[in-house]
Amino acid sequence: AHQPDYRGRFAPSPTGPLHMGSLLAALASYLDARAAGGVWLLRIEDIDPPREAPGAADSILRTLEAHGLLWDETVLYQSTRLDAYAEALNALQEAGRTFACCCTRSTLGPGGSCMGRCQPCAHNDNSVRIKLCGNIGFDDQILGPQSPSNAQSDLVLRRKDGLYAYALAVVVDDAWQRISHVVRGSDLLSQTFAQLEIFTALGAPLPAYGHLPVVSDAQGIKLSKQTGARAIVDACALDNLRVALRLLQQDSAGMPAGSAPELLCLAAERWSPGTLIEHGGKSLVYP
Ligand code: GLU
Repeated sequence: AHQPDYRGRFAPSPTGPLHMGSLLAALASYLDARAAGGVWLLRIEDIDPPREAPGAADSILRTLEAHGLLWDETVLYQSTRLDAYAEALNALQEAGRTFACCCTRSTLGPGGSCMGRCQPCAHNDNSVRIKLCGNIGFDDQILGPQSPSNAQSDLVLRRKDGLYAYALAVVVDDAWQRISHVVRGSDLLSQTFAQLEIFTALGAPLPAYGHLPVVSDAQGIKLSKQTGARAIVDACALDNLRVALRLLQQDSAGMPAGSAPELLCLAAERWSPGTLIEHGGKSLVYP
């Protein structure tokens, strides 16, 4: 259905070149946006310099272009948004939704949770965490209804080293870019509850979420940079897209196309997330 207010996005961290798992997130968010007649944005989440690889942001842009995954508006680099994160953190602090945490590895509880164990902080060398209420669930567009587990840990918003954390930056920018639909990997599912609480605390409207099944190999090992996932080869764009469409349970056999843009056009016309939804929590096997 045509949804003129649809605003989607792909928001990679430039820690390395795209692999099949990240191409899948790019493609699914793109097709979902285009099928709705919506806008698709690209945001480079470059707020963690120690984890970034030189040239990775440019390589991601080139790979997306080679695959015909062309974004609307200008690319947003999170490294240019530090003032906005400071302002949002301030608002959360003033609303009493944060606490200083000086936990060390040994004082952190299971799952990296502080739970106020280290209070009061004896020194200024602290991170800032959000106090979670654990009261916001959501209806995932792929996985169905999700409710927060009681083991939600109080996520870090600003790290000890002064860097803003992903959870804060992603919400501030999804709100600022008026993102209406987030389609991304299930590795981020457990973070969504905290993100919804941050949106709410900042008075911003909540986007809809769809979390894609995890891609793993035949042995069940999740595809990621850490497990040695291979970089996408730009020269094989058309084949890569066919593989990604198969993983997304889209039948590309009946889509005759001689180029990546042609294939994307047909795939957007025929985008049917239904088969992916049926696939639900199962993982996608690649190769
Ligand atoms: N930057 C995050 C990552 O690459 C994804 C952010 C998101 O889609 O919410 O893992």
